[in-house]
Amino acid sequence: MSGAELDCQACGACCAGWLPGEPFVAVTPADAARLGAHAGLVVPDDRTGTGRALATRTAGDVTCCAALEGDPRPPAGRVRCAIYAARPDACRRVEPGDDWCRTMRARLGFEA
Ligand code: SF4
Ligand code: SF4
Repeated sequence: MSGAELDCQACGACCAGWLPGEPFVAVTPADAARLGAHAGLVVPDDRTGTGRALATRTAGDVTCCAALEGDPRPPAGRVRCAIYAARPDACRRVEPGDDWCRTMRARLGFEA
């Protein structure tokens, strides 16, 4: 499947699919300022380079971002980032079809 064919709102794998012990989405000082009213989603995490990360929740046996609405596990449903306009830079760097996208999709069991 090409990157252009991937539908992020029927996926969400890069907002989930972290392995146990992996640092979650890092929050930089600039990210924290942009998150503003969503500051409650930021938690201390000494595994990231910034000391802060986005909070997580669980969907079955999958750990996903607390800001992700919907269930990211296959079969594809509809998911949505509740803080899309204010999401951290790390989220903005992921492109449909790039290596991280395909890694995370494979982890969740989607066609990579
Ligand atoms: S894993 Fe890829 S297709 Fe899925 S939401 Fe992220 S960028 Fe979009
Ligand atoms: S902030 Fe939005 S784009 Fe980033 S991991 Fe969470 S749900 Fe996904």
